Amino acid sequence: MTRSGQEYLASLRDGREVWLDGERVADVTRHAAFRNTAASIARLYDLARDPRYASVLTADGAHRAFKVPRSYEDLVERRRAYKVWAESSFGFLGRTPDCMAGGAAGFAAAPELFTTDGFDGADNAVAYHRRLAEGDLYPTFTLTNPQIDRTKAASEQEEDDLVVRVVAEKDGGVVVRGAKMIGTAAVFGNEVIVGTIEPLAPQDVDHALCFSVPIDTPGLKFLSRTSYEGQARSVFDNPLSSRFDENDALLVCDDVFVPWERVLTYRNVDATFDMWWRTPAYVNFVHQAATRFWTKLEFLTGIAILLTKANNTYRLPPVTQAIGRLMGRVAQAKAFVLAAEASYEQVDGGRGGVMPGKEISFAQRIMAGELYPAAVQEIKALAGGGVIQLPASAEDLLHPELGPLVRKYIRSPGHPAEDRVKLLKLAWDALGSEFASRHEQYERFYHGAPHVYLMQQAWEGDTDSCEALARACLSGYALDERTPQR
Ligand SMILES: Cc1cc2nc3c(=O)[nH]c(=O)nc-3n(C[C@H](O)[C@H](O)[C@H](O)COP(=O)(O)OP(=O)(O)OC[C@H]3O[C@@H](n4cnc5c(N)ncnc54)[C@H](O)[C@@H]3O)c2cc1C
Repeated sequence: MTRSGQEYLASLRDGREVWLDGERVADVTRHAAFRNTAASIARLYDLARDPRYASVLTADGAHRAFKVPRSYEDLVERRRAYKVWAESSFGFLGRTPDCMAGGAAGFAAAPELFTTDGFDGADNAVAYHRRLAEGDLYPTFTLTNPQIDRTKAASEQEEDDLVVRVVAEKDGGVVVRGAKMIGTAAVFGNEVIVGTIEPLAPQDVDHALCFSVPIDTPGLKFLSRTSYEGQARSVFDNPLSSRFDENDALLVCDDVFVPWERVLTYRNVDATFDMWWRTPAYVNFVHQAATRFWTKLEFLTGIAILLTKANNTYRLPPVTQAIGRLMGRVAQAKAFVLAAEASYEQVDGGRGGVMPGKEISFAQRIMAGELYPAAVQEIKALAGGGVIQLPASAEDLLHPELGPLVRKYIRSPGHPAEDRVKLLKLAWDALGSEFASRHEQYERFYHGAPHVYLMQQAWEGDTDSCEALARACLSGYALDERTPQR
């Protein structure tokens, strides 16, 4: 049985060390910077027990994302589950519990990859997946080294402990010290997996480990960024940022003890990288993320349609064409999900497990990172100045003197002021607020940096077929064919 929202919220009251604005947060479920988002996540858990969605969201008593897919149909069913949760936040909660659940299922599909010369993490990887699924736990992840100096390896930074590394072995486990960026939603999770998804240099052996620990593990500190939820005036004024601010935090490991049974890879540069790329973990992430991205574009396109209808511009041909372009982008986002499923692959040595097709999944990162900023720009252009010319807060609408003025001047045919202000405030929260700007950065970077994934696409893509086709054309004519053909 999956957890209720209340059970999930209770699990967050565990003494975790979360910092915001120079103060330690006593309880994320009650703090004004976090509580609404925690409640939004709790609703996801309640949906999984709701008779209307339980059969879509769960399988074998756990969230469906924990299931290791064994067929195309399993992938389709998993995507249906992803879609229900994505729609619940209109695509604005990216790292919902189903994201890393898919990653854990990826480990369980190919545990032998965790068996290496110096350390055997296979049982721990299987146990990780089982522990999360059975406890319906919320797994989060920090897999990126802090930027500091991107031209240097982890072990060559100005100080030894800037990037998480092993500092000692003790009875029963290891002690780690250092930092990782960026723990999205980590403050709302039950466990954080700490690793590295990008290649490590051969000399980075001390930094080449992956482990997962409970969020309240002593020495684990989360330094939260600005809270958009905390800055929100009200749900009416900031309908998205007040409820779906999943937060991002710097993770600091201050001599954290990690028991051996929590270690998945240890002092092995290749295994620490391969666990994401040679198991289905990464493509499973993309399956969740691509479904959420498609949902978010549907939502933003819906905003564009409502905005242009409210401004009575919807039927102007250039505006209808812009809506058509956005609808084309929605179809493109959807097509990537369906195509990744249709091109599913067997997992290497995966005992019958399958995963979404790699080529399409990897390409989704390129499409989404480029498409999102373009779509936002397009909708902003349709919106004009109305999204700025708004009362500072709902208070003006309720004010005896100002309310009638707002009602008179901020309206359009068929749209009384309250409806129009409500819509425009939602649009600005989605498109132009600081929260919206973070989302643009998220869509560009959460999959990794373009300079990394573009290289990967070129190396791993089927460049031979493209080249062969171009060569076939070249070999079909020669220098002596100088006469134009009729
Ligand atoms: C909102 C948000 C949420 C995130 N959440 C998570 C999370 O939950 N967990 C997690 O593990 N990570 C998370 N990330 C981190 C994400 O994985 C990284 O942002 C991503 O891997 C890129 O790394 P970087 O930000 O350090 O950029 P960098 O690697 O520093 O790259 C930034 C830019 O610098 C230039 N550059 C840097 N190095 C090179 C080079 N060698 N060659 C050419 N150009 C270069 C490029 O222009 C590049 O676009 C998140 C990121 C964002 C923005």
